Amino acid sequence: MLWKMRSEGPLKVMALNCGSSSVKYKLFDLERDEVLARGVAERIGLPGSRIIHASGREKESVFTTPLAGHQEALACVFRLLTDGTPAPVELSEIKAVGHRVVHGGQNFQKPVVVDERVLSLLEENSRLAPLHNPYNIMGIKACRALLPGALQVAVFDTAFHRTIPDYAFMYAIPSEYYERFGLRKYGFHGISYQYVSRRAAELLGGKKEDSRMIICHLGNGASLCALKGGVSVDTTMGFTPLAGTVMSTRCGDVDPGVVLFLAERENLSPASVLEILNKKSGVLGISGLSGDFRDLEEAAGKGHARAGLALKMFVYSLTKHLGAFVAVLGGLDALVFTAGIGENSPAIRAAVCANLKFAGVVLDEEKNRIRGKEAEISAGSSAVRVLVIPTDEEKMIAEEAGALAKKYAHLLKREREKTG
Ligand code: ADP
Repeated sequence: MLWKMRSEGPLKVMALNCGSSSVKYKLFDLERDEVLARGVAERIGLPGSRIIHASGREKESVFTTPLAGHQEALACVFRLLTDGTPAPVELSEIKAVGHRVVHGGQNFQKPVVVDERVLSLLEENSRLAPLHNPYNIMGIKACRALLPGALQVAVFDTAFHRTIPDYAFMYAIPSEYYERFGLRKYGFHGISYQYVSRRAAELLGGKKEDSRMIICHLGNGASLCALKGGVSVDTTMGFTPLAGTVMSTRCGDVDPGVVLFLAERENLSPASVLEILNKKSGVLGISGLSGDFRDLEEAAGKGHARAGLALKMFVYSLTKHLGAFVAVLGGLDALVFTAGIGENSPAIRAAVCANLKFAGVVLDEEKNRIRGKEAEISAGSSAVRVLVIPTDEEKMIAEEAGALAKKYAHLLKREREKTG
């Protein structure tokens, strides 16, 4: 038995998002719908590491402390939880930890309880997402060691896109590469799409089988998802989170010939080319200034030509992909903006919506001023309802992990009853 769990008491579940040098966490009491603690451990393995932590509704405090690795960072986080004021957390009360895992590959199409078999499949999948999955796995291993009584659950960013049909997910390259390596479109941001699409259906008055929706997840990583009847039918990211629209520091779609040309002419290794396309491209690469839209909007306002060009390219790239998805869906009923830029930039939303006038989108300028809050921002005359919905990936991860914890608690109870 991997874990032991008490079936009574509040359902406390932790959501974890482990990156290369950071660990973001949020602890929920799902039954009370409360956040008990939240924070981020930053600069893990680097000088100047620290944890920014808040308990309950308290303000955040910064703890500067050396954090050599993910396990050490999580051990510190758990210490902060148990020492927490005003309400210290008993670690044995945490029934499950939900881990964001970026790439589920072809093996995982829904959240799973992590056991040895799952862990080795996840390790295999690391080949598909070398920049993300290894750190997600480190988080899982650290939590197994530090919280042996909690159920470890992997929740995948790719799983929401399991409904994309083969003619949309296959690449037109020899099919042996799909068979041998699983080379296909997977899509990402699925946890965000799951949360936002559920919330959109609630706000729009229920899921309709033929509803046509596009969600724009515009954060540092940006992608679009086309949904029919609430399920994903296509998305802009692909085999990796590098494809699709122009992003903060990622290039989005480029001619594959560009990649080969760069490698040859600059004598670069595949890893160096990937570094350029992932970290030095996008609006950062174009502007030469910043990947942050606040900086770019300010600079463009002061006449910085390349910041202006970067913003134009971002909006153009979104427009082109949106147009394609309107065609894929055969029209559009709802358009939803989420994540950092989608939730906070009226200027980007207005520019994108102006370009979708042909599809019946009319924005209410006054309502579009909203930042960081749920709102309907379309005009009464709009044929398409336009919404802003702040995403909550941690809540979705915790709910998925909590659902499995409940399911397993029930099985455990039955098992106990059977054995007397
Ligand atoms: P991540 O993909 O890292 O989770 P987020 O969803 O947090 O990213 O989005 C972060 C980005 O959101 C920032 O880099 C910035 O470009 C953008 N952003 C945040 N606030 C604003 C704002 N007020 N105006 C314009 N852009 C914003």
